[in-house]
Amino acid sequence: MSTTTKSNALDGAHPDTLAIRVGHVRTAEGEHAEPIFLTSSYVFDDAAEAAARFAGERAGNVYSRYTNPTVRVFEERIAALEGAEDAVATASGMAAIMSTCLALLKGGDHIVCSRSVFGTTTVLFNKYLSKFGLEVTFVAPTDCSAWENAVRDNTAMLFLETPSNPLCEIVDLTAISALASNCGALLVVDNCFCTPVLQRPLDYGADVVVHSATKYLDGQGRCVGGVAVGSRELMEEVEGFLRSAGPTMSAFNAWVFLKGLETLRLRMEAHSANALALARWLQEQTQIERVFYAGLEAHPGHELAASQQRAFGGVLSFRVVGDRDSAWRFIDGTEFLSLTANLGDAKTTIIHPATTTHGRLTDEERDETGITENLIRVAAGLEHVEDIKADLQRGMAAL
Ligand SMILES: *Cc1c(COP(=O)(O)O)cnc(C)c1O
Repeated sequence: MSTTTKSNALDGAHPDTLAIRVGHVRTAEGEHAEPIFLTSSYVFDDAAEAAARFAGERAGNVYSRYTNPTVRVFEERIAALEGAEDAVATASGMAAIMSTCLALLKGGDHIVCSRSVFGTTTVLFNKYLSKFGLEVTFVAPTDCSAWENAVRDNTAMLFLETPSNPLCEIVDLTAISALASNCGALLVVDNCFCTPVLQRPLDYGADVVVHSATKYLDGQGRCVGGVAVGSRELMEEVEGFLRSAGPTMSAFNAWVFLKGLETLRLRMEAHSANALALARWLQEQTQIERVFYAGLEAHPGHELAASQQRAFGGVLSFRVVGDRDSAWRFIDGTEFLSLTANLGDAKTTIIHPATTTHGRLTDEERDETGITENLIRVAAGLEHVEDIKADLQRGMAAL
């Protein structure tokens, strides 16, 4: 037994082990849990050392906007789990998306983006990146020819989420990554809904994976954070941007996310099992018009999801028989489910997408994307599934 983990002891280890062990080198104190380096800056032994570190000639910490040992452990661990060379942690999921785009794109570039991405991603692209001469085309995520037709000479990035929120559309990672490499563009996948436990987009040819660590990586709704993952070459660019622009992850948040990673596999399996049981049960109820969950055999993306994911994840949605009032009565009829837009939490959450997360869409866009007024999204938590059903039953009784 040694007090420090030897660097090669984890070669070939399983993801469960990597999620718990990668990156932590014990200090002389012999601490068991990873320490939180809550320090903004670092001191140098002498003036020559300071000069060498500033010049980048000698490795070592300078300032926590650049590097922090606790944040570094989180980066190494998530890179190991995604099968990537490197990772860069950020202040939020949106900071990971922004940093990836601003570091890897330039004015005049064109992005092809799934139209079923996180709402704020759409706002970032349409309202802010467009100010700097980046153009975006949105496409139906499951229509491969729509992706092909949208590509132009200046297309530099394809961006997607799979499964999508809230309708669980499944995008073919192999097909879209082949398209990206044919046209010399980067494929960026927001892997927030699956986490590396259920899906590793880099294995299918994606170039960069981004996460909102706020969701399943934390798993208990405590901290906001994000991370970008990819080759060392690409991550050096993202890290360089972060050093200058500043949306870095705090050491405390990195420590919380490290604790989250230790139980990630167990939690993702439990979230997925609860969601599947709820989806199967809901589709048998006469008050429910349709259930959207890729774990159901009738779902158009079922086989594709089964081929690129290890399980179907924790998020499902369904249309109640009726209209907006019916959906609201259902939601207000539940008693312990959390009415919040968050997901990836031990607590089951429920939300009405058409008037909250997707409230910015026009009626026409909502019809096109299927986010109808009678649609409800549930992110299955870790409570006992029979108790979640009982609360949804209260919602149904209110219809
Ligand atoms: C929440 C979320 C984001 C944004 O993450 P923040 O941590 O809230 O900035 C991005 N993508 C997806 C899919 C999300 O669910």
